[in-house]
Amino acid sequence: MGVYNIAVIPGDGIGTEVTEAACKVLDAVAGKFGHQFVYKTLLAGGCAIDAHGVALTPETLNECKKSDSVLLGAVGGPKWDNLPGAERPERALLDLRGGLELFANLRPAILYPQLSSASPLKDENLKNGIDIMIVRELTGGLYFGDRGRRPGGVMPDGSPKGMEAFDTEAYSEAEIERIVRVGFELAKARKKKLTSVDKANILESSRLWREVNERVAKEYPEVEYEYYYVDNAAMQLVRRPGDFDVIVTTNMFGDIISDEAGMITGSIGMLPSASLGKPGMPGMYEPVHGSAPDIAGQDKANPCAAILSAAMMLRWSFGLGEEADLIEQAICAALDRGYRTPDIAYTQNCIRVGTKEMTTRVMESIV
Ligand code: NAD
Repeated sequence: MGVYNIAVIPGDGIGTEVTEAACKVLDAVAGKFGHQFVYKTLLAGGCAIDAHGVALTPETLNECKKSDSVLLGAVGGPKWDNLPGAERPERALLDLRGGLELFANLRPAILYPQLSSASPLKDENLKNGIDIMIVRELTGGLYFGDRGRRPGGVMPDGSPKGMEAFDTEAYSEAEIERIVRVGFELAKARKKKLTSVDKANILESSRLWREVNERVAKEYPEVEYEYYYVDNAAMQLVRRPGDFDVIVTTNMFGDIISDEAGMITGSIGMLPSASLGKPGMPGMYEPVHGSAPDIAGQDKANPCAAILSAAMMLRWSFGLGEEADLIEQAICAALDRGYRTPDIAYTQNCIRVGTKEMTTRVMESIV
């Protein structure tokens, strides 16, 4: 029995619908196990721009820092699409990641046997199933390095280049080591296999990435590890996804590889994520999908990604593994009984339900 303070940021679009679903499931878990989840609902994203003029106020960030954990829906939408980059709703995500020092992004990509027809891959590529944990570095690398524009000088033939834009990939040993350790620790508790993805044949930052990897690997003799260049990793992921266990990689490569891994499992509505920082700092849990303006407010959103994100929160932030397992089993049970939101209703004989009923069907197994 415990009391846990959760900062809930529903955000925009379907974010509000799926976080409501996740909190209902958390309440069912609380009832069963005698825990108390205390929610503080906060504005971030487009709704915060409307209310306060910025996507994330310092007060909201402070509230998040004071919480035990953050549960986020999704931010963004067409209403705010014409704002300049730094003023857009998505700015809230970067500020939350930076402000909470969330350097490790965990994205499981699991192929549920009940949904295997959703995968764009052939059966022969899926024979070993898919159960991959992607660990993406989240606060360094290309997305946080120096960037800008400058006069580009001249081309070899003397013609003017016009302006030149640049972005910088920089990683320190400390930044690499802490994320690689997360990867090895996870692999140790799973199938004991770690794949490190880089571009060490070209990038100096990737060569340092490998050196640090080698060093840390010595502390984990029980974990088999291998390296892939990112282009090869992208190919092998679609050819033999069942051979991967934990993949650890940089911010940009992780952004791309984790979307690829998610895609081959079928539906974006089933993909949760966790972003973790230093011990003692709150983690942030959110579905991988966005605010889906095309289906917002229509009771069509698949709540499973948000519910699974809440399960990750229980496991990683609160150490409640049994409770997390129960939520994951409850999702499987609802799928087993044929319930499907429209995004995963591929077969004729499934039972098509909306966000609210899917949530109820998941909760039925948490008694
Ligand atoms: P999206 O993920 O919102 O939607 C892509 C497609 O997937 C849409 O057809 C949508 O209906 C469907 N979809 C997404 N989640 C679903 C769910 N739970 N159930 C059923 N179907 C689902 O991506 P997008 O359309 O590129 O972006 C929409 C807005 O969301 C944009 O403003 C974008 O910037 C923002 N966004 C936010 C986040 C975030 O908050 N983490 C992530 C991605 C995109």
